[in-house]
Amino acid sequence: MNKPQGASMYESAKKIYPREISGRFDRLSKIATVTLLGLFYIVPWLQWDERQAVLFDLPARKFYLVGLTLWPQDFPYLALLLIIAALSLFFFTALAGRLFCGFACPQTVWTEAFIWMEQLTEGTRSQRMKLDKAPWSLTKFRKKASKQILWITFAMWTGFTFVGYFTEIRQLGLDILAFSVGGWTLFWGLFYGFATYGNAGYMREQVCKYMCPYARFQSAMFDKDTLIISYDEKRGEPRGGRKRSVDHKEAGLGDCIDCTLCVQVCPTGIDIREGLQYECIACAACIDACDSIMDKMNYPRGLVRYTTEHSLHHESTRVIRPRTLIYATLLTILVGGLFTAMATRTPVILDVIRDRNSLYRELPNDIIENIYTLKVINQSNDPRSFSLSVAGLEGISLDGVDDEVSVDGGGVLSLPVRVRAERDKAIGIHSIDFVITATDDAGVSVTEDSRFLGPTP
Ligand code: SF4
Ligand code: SF4
Repeated sequence: MNKPQGASMYESAKKIYPREISGRFDRLSKIATVTLLGLFYIVPWLQWDERQAVLFDLPARKFYLVGLTLWPQDFPYLALLLIIAALSLFFFTALAGRLFCGFACPQTVWTEAFIWMEQLTEGTRSQRMKLDKAPWSLTKFRKKASKQILWITFAMWTGFTFVGYFTEIRQLGLDILAFSVGGWTLFWGLFYGFATYGNAGYMREQVCKYMCPYARFQSAMFDKDTLIISYDEKRGEPRGGRKRSVDHKEAGLGDCIDCTLCVQVCPTGIDIREGLQYECIACAACIDACDSIMDKMNYPRGLVRYTTEHSLHHESTRVIRPRTLIYATLLTILVGGLFTAMATRTPVILDVIRDRNSLYRELPNDIIENIYTLKVINQSNDPRSFSLSVAGLEGISLDGVDDEVSVDGGGVLSLPVRVRAERDKAIGIHSIDFVITATDDAGVSVTEDSRFLGPTP
């Protein structure tokens, strides 16, 4: 491509000043923002059984989710949960388009919060535009400084909360007050805080347009029955200004009065009247804007509305179709599988490690001995007693360990054990089973196999 001399290949993005608008979808968006951000900031402060209710304790390799403690051995559940989350996104996108982007995406909700602080300190859209154009003065400095103080405080609190999901938040707060926070904790807190500040304060729609991979591939999940936000071209065109008293149909005009309010409220700065665009995050602000104009003009609402391509062309929309059926079936199977697996999960893990340093030992009285280390992990939150046994070879017995062992709630007990059998029964290699059973509930029982080595025949 020939580049004109002196011309830059880079075009800096123009700052967008979304106009404030109220309406049904704005209320919905505010409720979603308050609920989601509220949950994010409150959840790490909740307690359960004298510990933090939700804590991803990476050094201890334990995830606490209210009454549930997940261990590295439970990774398949976590993987299944992530697959369900991804599949749900595909399912809801096929049904309702970018509903997640417009109302629940972290980038959207934090940007909403930052714009609210901007409006609080710098005023409405036109006041903000005027302020940015104005030369520096004491008033401008005061307004800009107030905004920065609010933004930075909020961003730092966000970073603190984020780290509070990985390290106990109460202790973290005390450590910060005592200036004794660890290097990595400080790094992640500042990193997440400044990422929030940059993304929600400055990058805003550019994150959706240039950085979000979902925006790029979501169109592959769309079809003509997917709910989208669209301008009804047949009804709106030809667009043009007119007085309220004019019969626009007689004047040969459509319902669009070309007021551009739908463009002014758009957080990504696009014109919905140009058709479906990948920059549209489906926030529905243009619906509220256009409905308010339709109300003023006494025209029916819905010139810009949630619709489907089929519906726009007066064809019927199908909610149940092969794509949604496949997603729904897969989701049902996976969610059912996850619930069943969680409901039947035994809250104890037994690991058996055979002593690799010795094959076997010959003891007096024709006894063969093998050494093992048993690792008993009590996944429940309360201390528990377990009985131990070994089976699989006639006359086999455990030695050097009590019949009953106690393990703390969420604790790991490492137990060296000796297993003995008579020489004539122990010739060769045998498969044996270690069994551990909770003394208070015979249903909580785990069997783990291993090998017992004896002399060669
Ligand atoms: S076009 Fe409408 S729905 Fe899409 S981002 Fe802009 S205001 Fe939101
Ligand atoms: S808000 Fe409605 S009437 Fe105004 S320009 Fe947009 S589509 Fe046309």
